[in-house]
Amino acid sequence: MNRNDWPPMLIDDAGWCNLAQRRPSPNFDARPASAAIDLLVIHNISLPPGQFGGPYIADLFDNCLDCDVHPYFDQLRTLRVSAHFLIRRDGSLLQFVSANDRAWHAGVSSFEGRERCNDFSIGIELEGSDFVAFDERQYRSLADLTAALQQRYHLRAVAGHEHIAVGRKTDPGPCFDWNAYCALVRQCEKTDGDPLALHFPFLEAKPT
Ligand SMILES: [Zn+2]
Repeated sequence: MNRNDWPPMLIDDAGWCNLAQRRPSPNFDARPASAAIDLLVIHNISLPPGQFGGPYIADLFDNCLDCDVHPYFDQLRTLRVSAHFLIRRDGSLLQFVSANDRAWHAGVSSFEGRERCNDFSIGIELEGSDFVAFDERQYRSLADLTAALQQRYHLRAVAGHEHIAVGRKTDPGPCFDWNAYCALVRQCEKTDGDPLALHFPFLEAKPT
């Protein structure tokens, strides 16, 4: 899935992506009526931690994870969480919650003085960990999805979970290349001829 694919990635009026596999999760509710959707939050997840490719992340978000399969899963029995999107290692995209609705991905969080980031953000999980480089295909899908969401919601900024839940969360972590991601998003802007004006407040400062 990349910007050369046809049809192009789009988010429909109901908040669903045309190129994502849909796995509707029960773990969502309505956003507050006053909430603008203007923040993108990047996460990483792998289940069991550090292992890629199994069905377990989607099963967790759909409340059908068999918690007897692995010792680590025992602590997840009562967890009710979701993200709007998951990008797997091969770049394939799954969607669990309409971006119009509130997914349960951020927890206790704050961005630029605003609490409860779930109210006004869209959450994207990358299958990965804090210790392994992400796949190039994931960056391409993420950039395409970012551009599609930007077109629909006029997002203002992108942050990592670690930036909005400081000291509590570490994802997407040091292996996530913010500069590479930003560069791909800027390419999408050029291709579309539509300045996204998306802000990356946690981009590492690069020498000019
Ligand atoms: Zn997270």
